[in-house]
Amino acid sequence: MDWFIEYYNGSGLMIKVKGKIFEKRSLQHIQIFETVDFGKMLVLDGKIQLTERDEAFYHEMLVHPAMLMHENPSKVLVIGGGDGGAVREVLKHDPDEVLMVEIDKDVIEACRKFVGIDRGALEDKRVSVINEDGVEFVRNADEHFDVIVVDGTDPNPVSQSLVSREFYSHCGRISDYFVTQSQSPFIQREYFEAILRNAQFENRRIYIGFVPTYPLGLWSYLMGSNKRKIELNVERIRDRFEERRIETVYYTPEVHVASFSLPKWLEDVVRRF
Ligand code: SAM
Repeated sequence: MDWFIEYYNGSGLMIKVKGKIFEKRSLQHIQIFETVDFGKMLVLDGKIQLTERDEAFYHEMLVHPAMLMHENPSKVLVIGGGDGGAVREVLKHDPDEVLMVEIDKDVIEACRKFVGIDRGALEDKRVSVINEDGVEFVRNADEHFDVIVVDGTDPNPVSQSLVSREFYSHCGRISDYFVTQSQSPFIQREYFEAILRNAQFENRRIYIGFVPTYPLGLWSYLMGSNKRKIELNVERIRDRFEERRIETVYYTPEVHVASFSLPKWLEDVVRRF
């Protein structure tokens, strides 16, 4: 038995592993482990991206709030998300088309072969995949998306462009609703504040969720729109949730609405940007 340890800013997380089942250095350092209690675990550049045990907590809260804000999310863009979890959740809303723009094809291949949380979503006929930098794609995009979901890594040389002001302004130009994961507001404050500083939308809200294997468990998401209001009408959200017959393990319409209520220390941070 071995331990995988992830450190961040003076704290860390240890996950007991049985062994490493895949490793490749391509655009990123890709590692996949079989763990003792968390199932398969994907690690990119030394950072835990997902474990089978709690990935649904993250992918459901990343995808369903924005998708349920929209009355008919038929054309969806997912940027990043090479493991297929975000696309899997988007397909639960029965869109006409989903485009995934993922910079690293090796992540897609490795996850499809050794992790499998996509459950065939990337083979769905409504899904197409482009291997390109997300910022390049949105810079040149002249099409509109009902919802854009950004499932990127911690800011690193590959994903740095996904937290730039340019990236967010293009996303606001070509979408009704935009959502991105925005790191841990508690232990990754510099990343969180950089995202707040750059992600300027007409309407913008932060919401939070629990992801045990992310830095200290408190995770945040940023929803933005230049065209629509961000309304938390639980009856309307529940109606859409039931009409679309969406099955989840973490997300509920009530959790959706509650997740936008932030603790005071976090409200104070958000208010500054
Ligand atoms: N759930 C994880 C998190 O919140 O940290 C993210 C998981 S997912 C594996 C992150 C994906 O973003 C990776 O597959 C990575 O290759 C992709 N990615 C990173 N930078 C990118 C970029 N500039 N354009 C497109 N995809 C990118």
